[in-house]
Amino acid sequence: MADCLFCKIVAGEIPSTKVYEDATVLAFRDVAPQAPTHILVVPKTHVDSLDAVTIENAAIAGWCLQAIPKIAKLEGLTNGYRVISNVGEDGGQTVPHLHFHIIGGKKLSNHGGF
Ligand code: AMP
Ligand code: ZN
Repeated sequence: MADCLFCKIVAGEIPSTKVYEDATVLAFRDVAPQAPTHILVVPKTHVDSLDAVTIENAAIAGWCLQAIPKIAKLEGLTNGYRVISNVGEDGGQTVPHLHFHIIGGKKLSNHGGF
């Protein structure tokens, strides 16, 4: 998608602090971290959000999911972490390219959010 921020980061047109990459996904540090560890995992193929996942493209979301435990290990999140995917306006999504927040490095509240 030409005008998508995360597609541009995947393409290297906008810089990011990369923490993990494989053939299918890129993970980088959130510019506005809400916890000591705050990483975004994005598929290299554009999908708008979890609301656009279907049986045909579910593997794209799966690419991200398989990367999450690897990234958690790399980051030393041995005592747990939170994964969030905001969907649409009411869900608080600000970048319309599917992404999963990995939040951790401290004891998080039990009330959702960060
Ligand atoms: P969401 O609000 O769930 O769509 O998440 C988008 C996230 O992207 C926010 O937490 C932003 O802080 C983060 N963000 C926006 N621009 C950048 C960027 N250029 N590099 C890294 N993270 C970004
Ligand atoms: Zn995109």
